[in-house]
Amino acid sequence: MDQLQIFSPATVANVSCGYDAMAFALESLGDEMTFRKNDSGQIRIVKIEGADLPYEPNKNVAAAVAQRMLQDAAADFGVDIEIVKKYKPGSGLGSSAASGAGAAFAINQLLNNRYTKLEQLKYAMFGEEVACGSQIADNVAAALYGGFVLIRSYEPLDIVSIPTPADLYVTVIHPQIEIKTEDARNILPKEIPMRTAVFQWANVGGLISGLHTADYELIGRSLTDHVVEPYRKKLIPHFDALKSAAMDHGALGAGISGSGPSVFALVKGEETADKIAAAFDKVYKNSEIEYRIYTSGIAKTGVTLRNK
Ligand code: ADP
Repeated sequence: MDQLQIFSPATVANVSCGYDAMAFALESLGDEMTFRKNDSGQIRIVKIEGADLPYEPNKNVAAAVAQRMLQDAAADFGVDIEIVKKYKPGSGLGSSAASGAGAAFAINQLLNNRYTKLEQLKYAMFGEEVACGSQIADNVAAALYGGFVLIRSYEPLDIVSIPTPADLYVTVIHPQIEIKTEDARNILPKEIPMRTAVFQWANVGGLISGLHTADYELIGRSLTDHVVEPYRKKLIPHFDALKSAAMDHGALGAGISGSGPSVFALVKGEETADKIAAAFDKVYKNSEIEYRIYTSGIAKTGVTLRNK
């Protein structure tokens, strides 16, 4: 194989109660990427559409991941990369993760499946270090594995895939404001009371069980975040109104996607997802803030091949 085209999904990390431990992938929002072998031995970003991103191979996540994988494999070829972004970076929807996971998947294909999934994940995590300074696994794991994932442990790295109920959909609003990752981290308390921790891990257990048994009500009851949301919501204009709008229109639950500013609602059924999209629109349409709203199924698989 000398060339391939892939789709790499957007992802929602944290999923309310699962701060830094859970994430899921979207079916119909993500990056389109093309990877073509070249004889120069160089990694070149030859096209970026839809976002203002660096072309330098050591700064662009896709190129950085590709470079490291090809170097480690002592490959005798280079790669030209095209990236078409369908949503803006800095959304809290794993934009760098989509690029990193996409590159890890594609370069592995060009190397005739040299690497295991977990090894691909480690390369994609290196991409997260290039983007934000630390090797965070949640968004990249969801993008590579698809569906819901639990990062059970980092040392050793242990990723658990959780089944997705067939009728689960998501509505996302991305208010196009900038939240600095540093601010989103600094606003959180350094320690939490034992009682709060108990609430939180009880809900993570409930969410995992609800996903396994397709118990939508249990999923909804478990989508509660006592640890992060009370602090981070202050950084997102109209967060409470968005959450109320989602719950009033039949969402199972709603919360902050990653470190924001995007807000997601999980719902049963596509029709409800559309109703919540309209309700989100009503909350934001008279604000001065630009925004985008997406509805999607949950991706059954992670990064996928577009060509044969
Ligand atoms: P999001 O909030 O969507 O998860 P990220 O935290 O993934 O956004 O960070 C995007 C950052 O990564 C930006 O600073 C961007 O310049 C950088 N970056 C580098 N390469 C890429 C790439 N190929 N795709 C997306 N972001 C990239």
